[in-house]
Amino acid sequence: TSQHSAQLAADSGGDSPLASPWAADFPILARPVRKRRLAYLDNGATTQKPGAVIQALEAFYEQSNANIHRGVHWLSQHATDLYEEARERVRVLLNAPDSQDVVFTRGTTEAINLVAQSWGQNVLRAGDEILVTGMEHHSNIVPWQLLCARTGAVLRHARITDTGELDLDDFRAQLNPRTRLVGIAHVSNALGTVNPVAELVRLAHEAGALVLVDGAQAVAHAPVDVQALDCDFYAFSGHKLYGPTGIGALYVRGAILAGMPPWQGGGDMIRTVSFEGSTWAAGPQRFEAGTPNIGGSVALGAAIDYVLSIGLERIAAHEAALLAEATERLRALPGVRLVGTAAHKAGILSFLVDGIHPHDLGTILDTEGVAIRAGHHCAMPLMSHFGIPGTARASFALYNDGRDIDALVAGVRKAQKLFG
Ligand code: PLP
Repeated sequence: TSQHSAQLAADSGGDSPLASPWAADFPILARPVRKRRLAYLDNGATTQKPGAVIQALEAFYEQSNANIHRGVHWLSQHATDLYEEARERVRVLLNAPDSQDVVFTRGTTEAINLVAQSWGQNVLRAGDEILVTGMEHHSNIVPWQLLCARTGAVLRHARITDTGELDLDDFRAQLNPRTRLVGIAHVSNALGTVNPVAELVRLAHEAGALVLVDGAQAVAHAPVDVQALDCDFYAFSGHKLYGPTGIGALYVRGAILAGMPPWQGGGDMIRTVSFEGSTWAAGPQRFEAGTPNIGGSVALGAAIDYVLSIGLERIAAHEAALLAEATERLRALPGVRLVGTAAHKAGILSFLVDGIHPHDLGTILDTEGVAIRAGHHCAMPLMSHFGIPGTARASFALYNDGRDIDALVAGVRKAQKLFG
């Protein structure tokens, strides 16, 4: 066994403080890419899946598959129990007061569209305002633009500073009695900036507005507590939390959820249907028309168990160490400029290299087995604020280690030699 653990230590990046004891849980990391060791640094786009999640998905279809809620038979009740247990796992992850405050969605995008079309369409009137920040992902901008076009409401955005932080004075100045909703990213996907959500919620509530938090880049990287944040809506995607694609969740404060009309009609979301009129299911089922992603929700529950068994504080500490090391080493390279230098950041590093387009940089890194993202990161308004078309972005997860940073830095230097 000592030989075995020595082998595992080697696989996880040796004894360096940046080694990841969890990398061995992720089968895909063992496959070579372009005949190189894979350095997967595109976790902001999606994370890889641990064996526990892959097995949960397989076990569901092997042992537990049936449709939920409608069936009288044993297997249907069993599948329903698993689906509702997964809802409870999401409640635990977010520390929501009640699992009935959790709606399953396809992901963050669908969760925000749900709020816009159900709550927003019901509540907003011409002249009402929605306030977002200049660093939002398109999925926390476009649904509000569509809603404004339908209702006559107005979308405003608060300024971003040169360091990539929210300008709090501008945020305060834009809040006013017409503001009905504030939409904020918990963590910026393009810059890694962590927004002071609890403080922003306090200001928004003082102004009489509700707050939706886009948690897509947050839930996998630090503990989240919707009661401590006191937010009204919290959206995230399972696939950025080591879970499958096509499943995510929306937390809605219970008292608000109770007053929200359905946004999609169909099976499973009703209490009664007649041609004279239909009535709606109580609770989150009202927003889950049709057969949901049952297997995906069960596997999301397994992903939540996986991160909670490690501990999100530990994960945050590991990724903070990776971010600090990568920041220092990229900064030391002549010709490299970091975009987004907020005091409080999660494990996302956006940068530019003089004379090399981010796409070319990404292509050269790819030949070395290093996966990053290049482009506008679905945050075009933020890119235009900085006057750039895009950046190269390295984003960390719990399985990354010092070797991934070595490969990133070596790849950047290789690109500089090729273009130099
Ligand atoms: N919001 C942020 C901050 C994101 O990073 C992403 C994904 O890139 C999204 C929203 C959209 O997530 P999804 O595509 O899973 O719906």
